[in-house]
Parts: sequence; C-alpha cells; structure tokens
Amino acid sequence: MYQPILEFIRNLYTTPKGSIFLHEPLFIGNERKYVLDAIDSTFVSSIGEYVNRFEKMMAEITGAKYAVALVNGTAALQVAIQLAGVKREDEVITQALTFIATANATSYLGATPHFVDVDLDTLGMSPKSLRIRLEEIAEIRDGQCFNKQTNKRISACVPMHTFGFPVRIDEIVSICEEYHIPVVEDAAESLGSYYKGKHTGTFGKLATFSFNGNKTVTCGGGGAIITDDEELAKRAKYITTTAKIPHRWEFVHSEIGYNFRMPNLNAALACAQLEQLDSYMENKRETADKYQKYFSTFDFVKHLKEPTDSKANYWLNAIQFEDKNHRDKFLEFSNGQGIMTRPVWRLMNKLEMFKDVPTGKLENSEFLESRIVNIPSSVRK
Ligand SMILES: *Cc1c(COP(=O)(O)O)cnc(C)c1O
Repeated sequence: MYQPILEFIRNLYTTPKGSIFLHEPLFIGNERKYVLDAIDSTFVSSIGEYVNRFEKMMAEITGAKYAVALVNGTAALQVAIQLAGVKREDEVITQALTFIATANATSYLGATPHFVDVDLDTLGMSPKSLRIRLEEIAEIRDGQCFNKQTNKRISACVPMHTFGFPVRIDEIVSICEEYHIPVVEDAAESLGSYYKGKHTGTFGKLATFSFNGNKTVTCGGGGAIITDDEELAKRAKYITTTAKIPHRWEFVHSEIGYNFRMPNLNAALACAQLEQLDSYMENKRETADKYQKYFSTFDFVKHLKEPTDSKANYWLNAIQFEDKNHRDKFLEFSNGQGIMTRPVWRLMNKLEMFKDVPTGKLENSEFLESRIVNIPSSVRK
C-alpha cells in the first residue's frame, strides 16, 4: 500500500535505484571558485572578505539591519538568547516540538526551558497556548515577568519556524510585549520563508539561522544572528570574538567571551550558496506542489501545506498519517527500501534532561509527534 508513494518519490528525484536522502546539499554555483579563492588568499580563518560579504548578504536577504556570522546555529542561539538578557536560573519559553538545539542553547546559559504547545497548521509555537500558559503562571514584578509557581524570571521566548513553516510570529511578539518578554526567533530552518511579506527572523529582537549540511543553504557548518539593534549586533560580534578589546598588540578581554566565529573558508561556501537561494526556493516550492497534488488522492495520509499568510521555504516536506500505526509502518517500509524518511523529534519534555521542567498542556504536540514524517526534500537537479 505504500509502494506507489515510494515510486512517486523515486520518480520525482529521478533515482530509480539506490538511496534517496532527506536533504542533500547541491553545489552547482560558485562554491569551488570562492573556496579556492579563500584558500589562495590564505585568509581561511575567522577574518576575511567572505565573512563580511556573507553578513551583508544575510542582512539583504532577510531585510534585517545587521547580521553576524557564527560557527553554527546552536552557538548563534546561545549567544542570541544571552543577548536578549537571559541569565542563570531564568526560564525561557519555547515549544515542546522542536529540535534539541533550541532547548540546549537555553541550558548552556544555566537557564531552564519551559515548554508550550504548537499549532497544528504551523507546527510552531501556538499563540493561544502561550497566552493560556502565561495567564496561568506569569506575574509582572518591577517590569519583569516571573513564573509565580517556580519564582523564576521568564526572560525570553524562543519560537521556532518548524520545517520552514512560519509561526504566527506577530501574535507571539505582541503577547510577549504585554508580558515584557523579549522574543528570539529560531529561524534555523526558515531561510527563505516569509510571514505576511516579511522574512522570518525579523519580528523578534534577535533571530538565528543555521547553515548545517542538511539545511536549505549550507556551508558545512555555520550560523548567523540577525537584529535591527545596532548595539546588540556589535555585542554579538564582540562576545563571539573572545570579547577582546581592539588593540594592535595587547591581549585584553573585558568579559568571558566565546570563540564562535565562522571561518572565512565556510563563509566562502555560504556566499556561493546564498547566491542560489532564489532558484532553490522555486525548485523546492515546485517539489512541494507536486507532493501536495500527489498526496491529495490518499485518505490515510496528507501532505502539510504552508500555513495562511505565509510563504514557506519547504525545507523539509512533512506528511501526516491518520494514526501512529500507519506512520510506523511507513517509516519501516520506506527506510527499508533506501528512501530516507524520519519521524518528527521526540518532544523535548520527554527527554531525560528536560522531563522535570515547567510545561503547559501539549495536546497538539502529542498529536503531531506520533503522526508526522519528513520525506525527501532536497533541491532537485
Ligand atoms: C539546525 C537547527 C539548529 C542549529 O543547528 P546547527 O547544526 O548548530 O547549525 C537550531 N535549531 C533548529 C530548529 C534547527 O533545525
């Protein structure tokens, strides 16, 4: 019963035999040229023209005033959450259905994630669930938000744009404003995705992107922070370059910083990839259309379409089975035939290290966790 689906995927990717991966990189632009150029320049490390160019390109593409290049998306999240004002012992609200990096970044800062539910159509943080949870537990003291049950400060909210589907970010930002909570968007999966005509990541105080090998655009490993706040952008650059006070020869550092810079070698690859973003988007949206049409003929599974008011990058296409039984059988069958398919992440609150953290009701997250499968979504050659 699943055989036709696999044949459809093999056809789509013109791969009659062998493996089809979930998301493979494609290097058909200036990748080799720029990387060789970086090598020839000897500027392969954290200072170089490609890093500057990458930051400019990211600002142009997203419409943010500033972009800062980092070593990966997880480090970018950690720094962005810190710059939003999160301190040890604070709480950071995020969604239960997300990739581990979102919750880990908070933990690295000595803060605790606090999970709320997602919407069924966006797969990202539900404004309704956020509001209900805040009404239940939040209290404003001296202009700051506290969880009156744990007595901890709630100092940031980190929604994530799942698989490139934009969340209802305007509503989330306005709820957070009421509660004096800064928003950091985890836009790791949503480069090229727009909400109400604006690029994802430009609604919150800061946002982060990832350029890992499986993302829409990759540079091997890389990340970025974007913001409209000049001070925050400067701070991001400063603390990720060891917080060194500029001087021609003296080594003086003003605080505990990080070495989280993106090497110029990776930035060269990133620039070449970013040049192709528009064509990748067209290609990926065409693939999503084909999947959408094809799956509309089934009754036990559907292809998830981008939510209203948004234009998604369709980083990973997701299908939703009517029950867990179908999902499990499909995972078994497809992976057995060399077609890579993956369930969605285990909910964060079910992982050993987060099993005791504060959590709202998670009905939608539970529902989706047992039904969603990602299917091959690489840019087609
Ligand atoms: C990929 C990803 C990250 C960051 O990943 P890195 O591999 O560290 O670049 C963060 N959050 C989400 C939701 C992601 O998918």
